[in-house]
Amino acid sequence: MKLSRYKKNSLFLSIILYLLIISILVITIFNTIKLHNISNKQAENYLKDVSTQIVMNVDSKIKFILSDLRIMADFIKQYKGDSRYEYLSKRKTSYKYYDIGIIDLEGKTEFLSGKKFDLKNTVSYKKGMEGKEYSEVIESLGAVLYTVPIFDDKNEVSSLLIGVSDKESMNYILNIENFNGEGTIEIINSKGNPLFIGENSELIKDLSYKYKDSMDEPWVQKMLNDFKNEKSGHTVITSSKNIKCLLTYYPITKGLNDWYFVLVVPEEAVLGELNKLNSFTIIMTFIVTCIIGIITGLLYTIRKKYVNQIENIAYLDNITNGINQTKFGMLVKPLISESPDSTYMMIAINIKEFKLINDCFGSDKGNMTLKHIYTVLSKNITKNEEFVCRHDADLFYLFIKNRPVLEVLELLYKIEADINYFNENRENPYFLRISVGIYTIENRNEDLITIQDYANTARKSFNKAHQSDFSFYSDIERKRLISEKEISNLMEKALEDKEFFICLQPKIDIKNGKVSGAESLTRWRNSEKGIIYPNDFIPLFEKSGFICKLDLYILEETCKLISKWIKEGKEVLIISVNVSRQHLKDKSFLEKYELICNKYDVPTHLIDLELTESIFLENPEAIDVIKDIHSKGFKCSIDDFGFGYSSLGILKDFKVDIIKLDRSFFISKNNIERGKVVIESIIELSRRLGMKVIAEGIEELEQVEFLQNVGCDYIQGYVFSKPLLISEFEEFTYENNKIKTLRISSD
Ligand code: C2E
Ligand code: MG
Ligand code: MG
Repeated sequence: MKLSRYKKNSLFLSIILYLLIISILVITIFNTIKLHNISNKQAENYLKDVSTQIVMNVDSKIKFILSDLRIMADFIKQYKGDSRYEYLSKRKTSYKYYDIGIIDLEGKTEFLSGKKFDLKNTVSYKKGMEGKEYSEVIESLGAVLYTVPIFDDKNEVSSLLIGVSDKESMNYILNIENFNGEGTIEIINSKGNPLFIGENSELIKDLSYKYKDSMDEPWVQKMLNDFKNEKSGHTVITSSKNIKCLLTYYPITKGLNDWYFVLVVPEEAVLGELNKLNSFTIIMTFIVTCIIGIITGLLYTIRKKYVNQIENIAYLDNITNGINQTKFGMLVKPLISESPDSTYMMIAINIKEFKLINDCFGSDKGNMTLKHIYTVLSKNITKNEEFVCRHDADLFYLFIKNRPVLEVLELLYKIEADINYFNENRENPYFLRISVGIYTIENRNEDLITIQDYANTARKSFNKAHQSDFSFYSDIERKRLISEKEISNLMEKALEDKEFFICLQPKIDIKNGKVSGAESLTRWRNSEKGIIYPNDFIPLFEKSGFICKLDLYILEETCKLISKWIKEGKEVLIISVNVSRQHLKDKSFLEKYELICNKYDVPTHLIDLELTESIFLENPEAIDVIKDIHSKGFKCSIDDFGFGYSSLGILKDFKVDIIKLDRSFFISKNNIERGKVVIESIIELSRRLGMKVIAEGIEELEQVEFLQNVGCDYIQGYVFSKPLLISEFEEFTYENNKIKTLRISSD
C-alpha cells in the first residue's frame, strides 16, 4: 500500500518536473521573441540615426554648394557679358566645381570651360526661372547641376548661375563603414530611378529592380507615395538571393531637388550578433532542457527498476514466481469492498499428501510441483480480474468471480485434470489430488483473513485421503467461527469483570447416600449472551492458553467458598477442580495452586485435581506430576476415563486417588451387557490397585443400582443433581452444617 502511495507521489513529482522543464522552454522562447522584437525596434532606430546622419551630410553639402553659388550670383549681377566669366574664373570658390557657367533666359548655357549646352528642358532651368534654387543629376552628362537664380535690380530673374560637380564627388559621402561594410546607400528620384549609388552596390542593384520593375509591390507603392508627401519610412524586404534586408528612406533637402535617400542593410549585419546570441540562448536552453529531461528520464527509469526490484522482493513468491499473499491482498481487497455482495468466491486449494512428494522426491521436485500448480491455476482464471496466490506450504487461494455451483465444480475438475496432465503417456502415473474449500464472499465488509479462513475451514471439513474433494463453506460453520471470534474478544474483560462463577455438582457416596464432595464447574454470565456453558468456550480457551488463568480463578473461587464453610463450622467436603492440559507446560504450576490454597487457609487435601485421561496418554511425564500433586497434599483424579482407547495402561502407571468413569460408558445403547462387564472389571481392577471409582453422567436410577452392585464408590450425575449455584448446593448438602444423607434406592 505504501509502495503504491510512493508511486503516486513520484508520478506527481515527475509531472511537476516535466511541467517545469516545459515552462522553462516556453519562457525562454517567449523572452527570445520579445528580445528579437526589441532588437528589431532598436535596429530600426539605429538605421534611422545612421540615415539621418548621412542625409544631413548630403543635405549640408547641397546647401553649402547652393549658398556658395548664391553668393557668387549676388556678385555677378553687377557684371555684364564676358566680365561675368572673368569674375567666375577669378573667384576663388569654396567648392571645387567641375565646371561653372551661366544659363540665359532661353536656356542656353555657356560654361567657363567653353562648353555650351541647351538646358532649357532641365528641371533646374524651370525652377531657376521661377526664382528657385535646385540641384539635379543629368545622367547624360554624368554630372550634378546646382542652379541658383541671378536677380536684376528689379529683383527679377535675369539668368541662372550653374555649378557642375562630378557625380563621383557625392559618392564618398554615401560610403559608410557601419554594418561591417555590408550596408548600401542609394539616392533615387521620385520615380525610383537611381541617382547615386554608394559602395557595395551588389545588394542595392539586386534590390532596386524591385522598386523600378515591380511597382505593384505594396511596399514600393508606399515608398513612392511617401516620397510625394516628403515623408520618410522603414520596411523589411528580401533580396532575390533570399537575404532579409532592412530598408530606410528619407527625402533630402526638401524642395531643393527630387532626391531621396535609401539605406539598405542586411538584417544579419544589424542584428547579427544579437540574433546569434538569441539563437545560441535558444539552442543552449533547448540542449540543457533536453539534458535535464534525459537525466530525469534516466533517473526515473533507474528508480523504476529499483522500485520493481523492491516490489518483486515484497510481492513475489520465490517458489512460484507468482504474487504472494501480500500482493494478493492488495489486489483483491478493493475488489471485494467495492463490489456488491456475492460478486466473488474464495477458493482454498491444498495438495493432498504433499509431504510425501517432498519426502520421496526431495524439496526441489516439491517446489517444481508447487510452481506447476500455480501455473495451472493462473491459466484457468481471467487475467487481471481473478487472482491466485500461494499462501504458504502447499496452500493456494483462488479469487474468482461468483458462478453457479456446477460451473465451479467444472472449473475445479478442469484444474485437477490440468494439474495431472503431466501423467499423459507416463508408464507409472503419479496422480496429484487436491482438497478444495469454496466460499462465496457474501458480505463485502468481511476482512480477507476471515474470508480465507472460511474457505480453508470448508476445505478441512472433508478430507478423504486418496480422492479429491471439493467442499462448500456452510453457514453453521461460519456462525461457529464468528461466535468463537466474539468469545476470544470478550474473555480477558470477562475475567476482570468477574463474569465467571462456579457451580457445584455433588458427588454421592453410594454406600451411605451422603454427599462426599463436589466438582467445581465454570459458568460464564455475559450481559449480552446470557449464561455460556463450558463446552462453548473451554476448547477455545485451551487453544489460546487463557484456560490457565481461568482455572486459577476457579480454584480461588472454590477456596474462598471452602474457607467460608470452615469459618461457618460446616462439615468440610473435598471439592474437585478441572486442571487443563495447558498447565503441564508450566513446571511450577502446582506452586501457584498451593499459593492460592494457602492464601485462603484451605488445606490442600480438600482439593481434588481432575486431569483428563488424554493428559496421561499424551504426557508420560505426568507420572511425576501426580507425584508432585500428592507431595503437596492435593488429591488427584483421572477425568473422562474410558473416553480414549488405551485407558487400561494408565491404571498401571498412574497412581491416582479416583478414577472418573466417562459418561460415554453409560449412554451407549450398544452391547450393554459387554459394557457392564467392562465397567465391572475396571472397578475391580481399580479397587485392587487402591483407587476409588466415580461414575460420571449418571441419569437413571437403574444405573445407580448397577453401580452399587458392582462396587462403584461414588456417583456424579443428574440422577442426584445437576451442577448447582452455591446457595442451592449448600441447601442440597447441608442441614445444620452437617452433611445430609440422601435416599438413593429406586423404591
Ligand atoms: P467434566 O470435567 O467431565 O465435567 C462434567 C461435565 O458433565 C459437566 O459439564 C457436567 O455438567 C456434565 N454432567 C454431569 N452429570 C451429567 C449428567 O447426568 N448428564 C449430562 N448430560 N451431563 C452431566 P459442564 O459443566 O458443561 O462442563 C463440561 C466440561 O468442561 C467439563 O467436563 C470440563 O472438562 C470442562 N470444564 C468445566 N469447567 C472447567 C474449568 O473450570 N476448568 C477446566 N479446565 N475445564 C472445565
Ligand atoms: Mg471434570
Ligand atoms: Mg468428566
